[in-house]
Amino acid sequence: MSKRIAYTKPSITELEVTYATDAARHGWGAHCYDYIHRLERGFAAHLDVKHAIATSSCTGALHLGLAALGIGPGDEVILADSNWIASVAPVVHLGAKPVFVDILSDSWCLDPDLVEAAITPRTRAIIAVHLYGSMCDMDRLREIGARHDVAIIEDAAEAIGSAWGGKCAGSMGAFGTFSFHGTKTMTTGEGGMFVTNDSSLFERVTTLSNHGRDASEPRQFFPTVTGYKFKISNIAAAIGCAQIERIDELIARKRAIMASYRQLLGPLSGISLNAEPDGVTNGYWMPSVVFDRATGVTRNMLIEAFQAADIDARVFFWPLSELPMFDARPDNLTAHDVASRAINLPSYHDMDENAQMRVANVIRDLLKA
Ligand SMILES: *Cc1c(COP(=O)(O)O)cnc(C)c1O
Repeated sequence: MSKRIAYTKPSITELEVTYATDAARHGWGAHCYDYIHRLERGFAAHLDVKHAIATSSCTGALHLGLAALGIGPGDEVILADSNWIASVAPVVHLGAKPVFVDILSDSWCLDPDLVEAAITPRTRAIIAVHLYGSMCDMDRLREIGARHDVAIIEDAAEAIGSAWGGKCAGSMGAFGTFSFHGTKTMTTGEGGMFVTNDSSLFERVTTLSNHGRDASEPRQFFPTVTGYKFKISNIAAAIGCAQIERIDELIARKRAIMASYRQLLGPLSGISLNAEPDGVTNGYWMPSVVFDRATGVTRNMLIEAFQAADIDARVFFWPLSELPMFDARPDNLTAHDVASRAINLPSYHDMDENAQMRVANVIRDLLKA
């Protein structure tokens, strides 16, 4: 019996264990924010941004940022149809209307022409989600945002290690958000980060994230707005401090795994992999394969073949507009089409060459059949 190949699992060393243990033993009282602030400083330095606020999740970070921009009922927010629900849930909870646009077939990210066509007088923000590590066209989006006075937000949860023209994903929009969920390139178990270069937005999010308590308010326990509670714990942040010290190594492993897949799969025709055009660095959070339509390979055939090989591969995100709580958008052809013949491949940091060969063999056999 072959061993089951996991889809993702974190890279945890003695450093993470040491820091988490220290936080559990000593990180209380006057020290209860030590690892949190250290993680925020380390992450801001890694991205080269002014401000970072650690959160309990990326979903929470997005919620805080959208709320601080004042987005609510009557507003529209544009994002790609191919996405995980977390990118849109805060939009819905704030009472705004999500507008799903189709994706480009190479980057799997939103199509800037369709974004521009979807703008109305109610549009307040565009959420650029850098899917699976691929970059949205930030030049086009920022130009569109500036011309229509619409905020560009980066959900960079999948784009640690990705860059556009040398600038880190998450550092270019009104604000950026990250996830440290256990499946992501760096983890704290559960956790996330809000980042921005806008000092007044940073102040507003700081207040909102602390139950509406303004730092300049002299009275104790005296919130001035109804805020949120999306904070990270010091113990989780301690694990994050170890991961941020190792961030270059964690990103390098993701890129090495992708390079290895490219070597194994590159000679095959009938498939395409994650794109990395000129001027872009892809952090390759999630190596994925899209089968050409001519191969006849479908999502269900992929699920069955990987299950039979005891490999944990996952389906490409369903179009959000296909979920029961949203209006159908059958006109988003590429989002429906790509998802119907694509799969995410295992890519955990400690994955070895043998495991990658087993994955490649499943793909080779499907192309032969
Ligand atoms: C994982 C992910 C999220 C959600 O992150 P949480 O930390 O689980 O809230 C949001 N957006 C994208 C693009 C993600 O990949």
